[in-house]
Amino acid sequence: MMDHKRADSKGTSLYGEFLFTSNRKGRCAVTLTEKDLVVQRLTSAPVGRNKVVLSLKECVGCRAYRGNDSVDPAAYLVAYFYPLKRRWMSSRVSRQRVEQCFRLAALQDPRANLEEAEKWARAVRERSARQQFPRNGVLMSQRSRPCRMMLLVNPQSGKGQALTLYNNHVQRMLNEAGIVHTLVITEWQNHAREMVREADLSQWDALVIMSGDGLLYEVINGLLERSDWEEAIRIPLGILPGGSGNALAASIHHYSGASPVSSEELLVSCGFLLCKGLVSHMDLVSIHLSSSPRLFSFLSLAWGFVADVDIESEKYRHFGAVRFTIGTLVRLASLRVYKGRLAYLPATKDHNNEEDMRSNTTIPCKNLRSALTPPSVPCLLSRDSSCDNTRHNSCHSNNSLKVRRIESTPSRSATKALPGPTDSLLPPLDQPPPSDWVVVQEEDFVLVLAMYQSHLAEDLLAAPEATLDDGVIHLFYVRAGISPTALLRLFLAMERGAHLTTNCQHLVYTKVRALRLEPYSSKGIITVDGEVVEYGPVQAEVHRGLSRLITG
Ligand code: ADP
Ligand code: MG
Repeated sequence: MMDHKRADSKGTSLYGEFLFTSNRKGRCAVTLTEKDLVVQRLTSAPVGRNKVVLSLKECVGCRAYRGNDSVDPAAYLVAYFYPLKRRWMSSRVSRQRVEQCFRLAALQDPRANLEEAEKWARAVRERSARQQFPRNGVLMSQRSRPCRMMLLVNPQSGKGQALTLYNNHVQRMLNEAGIVHTLVITEWQNHAREMVREADLSQWDALVIMSGDGLLYEVINGLLERSDWEEAIRIPLGILPGGSGNALAASIHHYSGASPVSSEELLVSCGFLLCKGLVSHMDLVSIHLSSSPRLFSFLSLAWGFVADVDIESEKYRHFGAVRFTIGTLVRLASLRVYKGRLAYLPATKDHNNEEDMRSNTTIPCKNLRSALTPPSVPCLLSRDSSCDNTRHNSCHSNNSLKVRRIESTPSRSATKALPGPTDSLLPPLDQPPPSDWVVVQEEDFVLVLAMYQSHLAEDLLAAPEATLDDGVIHLFYVRAGISPTALLRLFLAMERGAHLTTNCQHLVYTKVRALRLEPYSSKGIITVDGEVVEYGPVQAEVHRGLSRLITG
């Protein structure tokens, strides 16, 4: 009874009449247009109530298969959608899973039924992929082999639930999207960093991190410590929130235009974006410290209140993201002043135009890497229906890894000899900043915070103007003299990204390309991406779009 009305080519529709799998007697008419899958229940009831329109923009995958019963000639077609829906009794909107499964049994020949189901599955996948790239209509389905994704999970991150979250959500989503992945569970701090520093990256098409921001910090630094850093840093990276500080995950979700969510809803959103597989450029910032090797940062540099709260709240880790709220209240009760000198190179319009010439926001590519790397490394984020979720115990194979040490201090010597890009804006740390830098008059601060993505934490929209690759460091500082109540008000407003419109006289915000901070005290906390680094003078320079991130 299947009625294949029109050919499956771009812009035309497919039409078929199938059975619902939940109710073998329930028949439906299914139409696949360029944008939607329309399912119409075939009953005598009024039309409106029996029609479901599912946008292919929300579809992560579709596959065809034969049933278990060898006598039954039917084939099955199943498509997975994650539309934005309002929660019951709530104003919150989040992505919720919808599975549509159909039984195709029009013919007696099981092969013919399966072929028809496969034709539909292919068409759904191709049209879903085309929704990603409406302007140039690039397909993601022309692949020579399945994508090989390494999924790194830190079992200690957050409340220690990353593996449970993987089992409950991520594994299924990746299977639905036909993404083949290898699970790697980290066993110690810097395990991931050591691994990616030594790994044969040609084996992998994407490195995805499921943790807080700390594990991605390890991976980015590991990639930039390689002698082939220029090629290595082009590998598409992905992030799934599994920690307590999920700032980059919250930023990606924010950039997607969806309204704020947290916890598992944020995970489902980021999982959906990962499955969609669109790759964008992401800025990185190089960080020079007085005697440690140069570091790379994708999120933030903090000193004062924010850095103290981040690190002091470690002891409340088992509360998850709430640890920052508790830490904030504790620190507010004993608000401190931090003395030091701050200088920066302002970001100018000229610079931005110049940068616009060599960077674009999203890379509409038919495969994850071909548009990003030399053509010798073609590969795709697979939509293959087979999926091998091998638990890869990397402990044994990596015991023999050697940790390469970088000997010299980049800020005091030329950075050229070391892996990573050259920092053209930064003088050595022991020399004064160049004349085109602004030296801040104040020396008493409550906090200094440099952000390069929008979110400081899941619920803190610290830099509302930031985008993934704007080539800008969003620099905030709060001058001493602010009352604890006023500071609390700022952080409360930050939940909506409204702190810049509170007219707080103590808060200063400016866009810069490079900065230098010299604390006067000999002891204290400086964090980079939420990780503690050497305390003392620090300077930073942004490298626009240096890395690649899967943003959906
Ligand atoms: P959270 O957001 O919960 O802090 P992170 O991803 O930031 O989660 O990880 C916290 C810290 O754990 C980071 O410093 C990271 O380098 C480190 N880490 C990564 N893997 C492990 C592991 N297996 N055991 C202990 N620490 C780890
Ligand atoms: Mg962290």
